[in-house]
Amino acid sequence: MADSKKIAMISGITGQDGGYLAKFLLEKNYRVLGLYRRGATDTFSKLKEHGIFEQIELLDFDLLELSNICRLLKKHQPDEFYNLAAQSFVAASWEEPIYTAQADGMGVLYILEAIREFSPKTRFYQASTSEMFGKVQEIPQTEKTPFYPRSPYGVAKLMAHWACVNYSESFNVFACSGILFNHESPMRGKEFVTRKITSHFARIYTGKTGEPLELGNLNSKRDWGYAGDYVEMMWKMLQHTTPDTYVISTGETHSIREFVEEAGKHCGFDLQWQGSEDSETGTDKKTGKVVVKVNPKFYRPAEVDVLIGNPEKAKKVLGWNAKVDFKSLCRMMMLADIEREKK
Ligand code: NAP
Repeated sequence: MADSKKIAMISGITGQDGGYLAKFLLEKNYRVLGLYRRGATDTFSKLKEHGIFEQIELLDFDLLELSNICRLLKKHQPDEFYNLAAQSFVAASWEEPIYTAQADGMGVLYILEAIREFSPKTRFYQASTSEMFGKVQEIPQTEKTPFYPRSPYGVAKLMAHWACVNYSESFNVFACSGILFNHESPMRGKEFVTRKITSHFARIYTGKTGEPLELGNLNSKRDWGYAGDYVEMMWKMLQHTTPDTYVISTGETHSIREFVEEAGKHCGFDLQWQGSEDSETGTDKKTGKVVVKVNPKFYRPAEVDVLIGNPEKAKKVLGWNAKVDFKSLCRMMMLADIEREKK
């Protein structure tokens, strides 16, 4: 008997969102085809931690390899394709702007072309980003706010966003662009600032290091949500009657400094800030130890100061609300890293 399960393809299956989305879709009885890069080092640890590794059918995939993308689409004819793969680290995009443009911009065009040619019924989700708003033209940002990316990453993602809109208008491809604001979890990569904070603090807390955490601009503000909440929205977009663009965010903004203070509380730190901008330090009042300090090395060449999204459209059209708030997110991430360090 033919398998009547819906088929979802997820690129970037080894990343933070890949694991949460795969878990969500498996619970909805999808057959999940996970696309991964052969040669990645720590390949499946997140899928194993989620306890779903055995249920994912893994297939080779690279955003830069059009022939492989065409073959995959032609052969599997997925009902839904979630493109979560990307060179996703903003800081790295200044070092690798051309690769970032090829992977995050052209790679998306390759998938759209493959869908158009070989699997036109496939519904496509593109992982767009609040970094496309960059030097914000409006606060809060909505689907109608003009874009002004401030990094090669934001520029490449903007191309992909417009390619989705264009393929949907020109070729009737069901392509949705989810403009997701920052979302975090215990599965976040350690290079990203939230996880950099919680993983380093956990090492101080468990006595594994005495070195302070070094950060860039403490006053940058972000709209931080929980990845587990946000993947539901990716799915909801593809179940709607028409393809569209949606801002997904909490509607609250917090500075990196606030994240540091909130995470620090769960390690028993009572932080006192001292010094001027470029040499500011945070000392734990109880022990007198410096646990965090600014290092201008981590400043961005072009800063994105205030990101805050207005998720009203997603709430109204798709019926969605973020469940995990800022404090709960800090707590969840901090406790998970302390547990990991204790093990
Ligand atoms: P992530 O943890 O960095 O995962 C990125 C994934 O892309 C990894 O599985 C990585 O595979 C894969 N990848 C990188 N280059 C590739 C290539 N050339 N070919 C195939 N796969 C490649 O990112 P995430 O946090 O899950 O985010 C998922 C998506 O949402 C990304 O597109 C990101 O840009 C976007 N986004 C994220 C946020 C956020 O706050 N998390 C906000 C807005 C948008 P390897 O394991 O092989 O490196």
